Amino acid sequence: MSKPATLFNRLALIGVGLIGSSIARAARAQNAVGSIVATARSPETRRRVAELGLADQVVESNAAAVEGADLVIVCIPVGACGAVAKEIGPHLAPGATVSDVGSVKGSVVRDMAPHLPKNVHFVPAHPVAGTEYSGPDAGFAELFVNRWCILTPPEGVDTAATEKLAEFWRLLGANVETMTPDHHDLVLAVTSHLPHLIAYTIVGTADELQNVTRSEVLKFSAGGFRDFTRIAASDPTMWRDVFLANKDAVLEMLGRFNEDISALTRAIRNGDGDTLFEHFARTRAIRKGIVQIGQDSPAPDFGRPHPDLPHTPLPKPYAADEG
Ligand code: NAP
Repeated sequence: MSKPATLFNRLALIGVGLIGSSIARAARAQNAVGSIVATARSPETRRRVAELGLADQVVESNAAAVEGADLVIVCIPVGACGAVAKEIGPHLAPGATVSDVGSVKGSVVRDMAPHLPKNVHFVPAHPVAGTEYSGPDAGFAELFVNRWCILTPPEGVDTAATEKLAEFWRLLGANVETMTPDHHDLVLAVTSHLPHLIAYTIVGTADELQNVTRSEVLKFSAGGFRDFTRIAASDPTMWRDVFLANKDAVLEMLGRFNEDISALTRAIRNGDGDTLFEHFARTRAIRKGIVQIGQDSPAPDFGRPHPDLPHTPLPKPYAADEG
């Protein structure tokens, strides 16, 4: 019996952390590719990838991984993409599609494109999906379901190659949108990069307070702080690279943010309840909108389970008089 048709014959994954291993799991589950060859920087990660059976073949070098692959996806921190493109450039198969998953697109295009031969299709991508965990054990096949994957094909790239990559992402459950790298970087600066910077700041500030103890911060974190700590637990290497690579857009959004926080500061100082109320009503509507378009669950408190009420009997002085 012949094997069912797949979109690509051979997928090469360079980097098999949260995103790379999720792609491997989903591509397998959806029969999107004939075979998967994978590599990572360290022998430990390569060993783990082999143990988990995430790829048909695990190789030691990035150059070896791309040999004969018709789809190459680079799933590493954005700061390393240029050097990796240089390494793989001479080994890419003619006609292959080369993509990535980096959270910044302008720098990836700038760093990778010059090293790629003319006879491959370079279609950068960013699946807007993730968790605060890293490494090959952290991935799961459903990560991209109902999330957006943004493609930023440079001008002149083969439209059929772009459409085929879009089809690959749709097969993995994602919705696909296309935009320019610069626009991507501006949009993500406000929806992802700035929120991460704010979370990193708040968690750091709370940690350095003198008059509130660290144990109190942890103990009373359900007041809102713990929701920031999830974001602030994200991978330090990845996020260092994001802020270095998307400097201009982040600084622009940070400028806007500082103006808005000054306005709210003024409202608090002046006892201007109307301004505060109007602002909070507007932001509440934004949360509703996100839930309405299916980008988050409507469950209260992010769907966290709440423990049962305690079953302990009333203490003696309050218990009903049994006499
Ligand atoms: P991760 O879990 O930390 O995995 C990174 C992988 O890249 C590891 O396998 C690492 O190998 C490998 N690697 C690093 N440098 C390499 C090099 N020079 N050559 C070969 N392999 C190398 O990271 P991730 O969360 O999957 O993120 C990967 C990319 O996805 C980043 O560009 C990030 O911006 C983007 N992204 C992340 C998220 C998210 O929420 N995490 C969401 C969307 C997009 P070792 O383990 O051996 O070091």
